[in-house]
Amino acid sequence: MTISPLFYQAGPAMPEVSHGKGVFLWDTKGKEYLDGCSGAISCNLGHAHPALREAMLEQLDRVAFTYRTQFENGPAVELAEALVDMTDGEMEKVFFVSSGSEAVESAQKLARQYFVATGQPQRRHFVSLRPSYHGSTLGALGLTGYEPLEAPFADITAGSIKVPGPDFYRQKDGSRDAHIARVLSETRAQIEVAGGDSIIAIVIEPVGGASTGGRLVDRAYLQGLRELCDEIGCLLIYDEVLCGVGRTGSWFAYQHWGVAPDLLTTAKGLGAGYYPVGAVLSRAPIVDAVMDNGGFQHGHTYAGNPLACATGLAAIRTIRNEQLLDNVAARGQQLKLGLEALQQRFDWIGDVRGLGLLWGVELVSDPHSKTTFPAEANLFTKVTAIAKQEGLLIYPRRTLNGVAGDHFLVSPPFTISEAETTLLLERLERALTRLDHEVISVLRDAPSSQQHATGITG
Ligand code: PMP
Repeated sequence: MTISPLFYQAGPAMPEVSHGKGVFLWDTKGKEYLDGCSGAISCNLGHAHPALREAMLEQLDRVAFTYRTQFENGPAVELAEALVDMTDGEMEKVFFVSSGSEAVESAQKLARQYFVATGQPQRRHFVSLRPSYHGSTLGALGLTGYEPLEAPFADITAGSIKVPGPDFYRQKDGSRDAHIARVLSETRAQIEVAGGDSIIAIVIEPVGGASTGGRLVDRAYLQGLRELCDEIGCLLIYDEVLCGVGRTGSWFAYQHWGVAPDLLTTAKGLGAGYYPVGAVLSRAPIVDAVMDNGGFQHGHTYAGNPLACATGLAAIRTIRNEQLLDNVAARGQQLKLGLEALQQRFDWIGDVRGLGLLWGVELVSDPHSKTTFPAEANLFTKVTAIAKQEGLLIYPRRTLNGVAGDHFLVSPPFTISEAETTLLLERLERALTRLDHEVISVLRDAPSSQQHATGITG
């Protein structure tokens, strides 16, 4: 067998993909997989969607690439208008990029340049949550709170001030209100140590993605953050790279709680897996201040090219034309009920949480103490591997800062039908039954397992 020059992360050999259609993918040996996590929560319209193909071919025949300092292009203008419209005008300006990390990094630089332009260059720090994921480039990684990803680069990254986020599953504050009050007061306390006038922005994911397994916020939390930002004069940034563009059933996740940010990042589902396209959305005064002071000193070659933007437009139009936000809500409810039924059946499913078609399933060795399984058991990768054997793709991570805890995301394409959702749940049940027999019962019978288990909380 020839050894491929490709390298990604360490991991087992993977099947070679042949083709996809709708929510299904097939490998070159003919095995079928239901794409229960939309690739990396990005193929939101499934595979080989004819509307995307048509729009992309039409744009390819016209022009694929022009550069933003030489030409304006229609798709970019229209996509920017569509994005503003999707926020009901709460965000007014748009800057295009090609990935989520670029979107986050661009938001960081825009926020910093805003304060330089408005005479507050002493603002140097960002505040973000632990755990969280905001991207892999050095700036975005500085915001990310996920220990294994941070560790090799800690010495060369401008890390943010890390504060806890809401954790309605593991909180020990009594009520949700008390929990939010404590999280906000810890956030404030840490900011006060650094000095409120040194903060550029607080950055959060309104619905957590891979790093937290779909953790939610609530209105009181967002309102509290908004007030804190306004009080100390910093910006509020929502990272909706994963949860934006319909994933949670509204165009943007923050709209469930009605507290708008100053900047918003999005990517992944914007190109729906057909072409890389992301964006930073901003309130106008921030952009105006930067533009009046020499312009935004930032940009990427492929940003806002016609093919990228035509793809993004086609994705948004398809969501509108096929009324897919309604389907996200309906199938999301079906998925929720199905996952909760599995939780009843397997006592090691500690929590099922999410919104729309973004669901996290957290595994614990003891549902009462919420103790995690031993980290070295790597349940998060095992459950994913077994599900894949059963013809289902899910998305795994560790729940507690990347060092312990196991969860996976279930986040199928918005186009999934009722019958396909039933099939997803059937395949998941088969996988979990096998996990129970082949791995968990063995772990639980091992006398030393509890000694290794960690009770750390996030
Ligand atoms: N922010 C969030 C919330 C994400 O989920 C991701 C990707 N998982 C990123 C940023 C980075 O996006 P990308 O991988 O496209 O660079």
